[in-house]
Amino acid sequence: MNDENCIFCKIVKGEIPSTKVYEDDKVLAFKDIEPAAPVHILVIPKVHVTSLLELEDDELLIHINKVIKQVAREQGIAESGFRVLTNIGENGGQAVKHLHFHILGGAKLPAF
Ligand code: AMP
Ligand code: ZN
Repeated sequence: MNDENCIFCKIVKGEIPSTKVYEDDKVLAFKDIEPAAPVHILVIPKVHVTSLLELEDDELLIHINKVIKQVAREQGIAESGFRVLTNIGENGGQAVKHLHFHILGGAKLPAF
């Protein structure tokens, strides 16, 4: 089920353009519009799930994990290392309320 007011659901439906780097029937990966690293990809489930807190489909999480690893390899950042993160809720700094995993790499990332 998609949320008609959700920007990432609109990307899934093709109503908002994105630079896709991976797509299958369940998952989409596209370039972040404001990259925080030389490689900055967002991996999202096509179904609207608000955050990791609401994700109950364990198989989908396993699949997302596979996609994250594949995308990192294809983007050439797997060997040198990269960061995967997902922001949750207000204090987590989640701006878009559709579950997404950031893949960040291509340079030494700042410690936090
Ligand atoms: P978060 O703060 O974890 O919710 O991250 C949301 C991310 O979505 C930010 O890094 C934004 O730059 C990115 N973003 C927002 N709108 C778009 C868009 N239309 N296409 C690609 N990335 C986007
Ligand atoms: Zn959504």
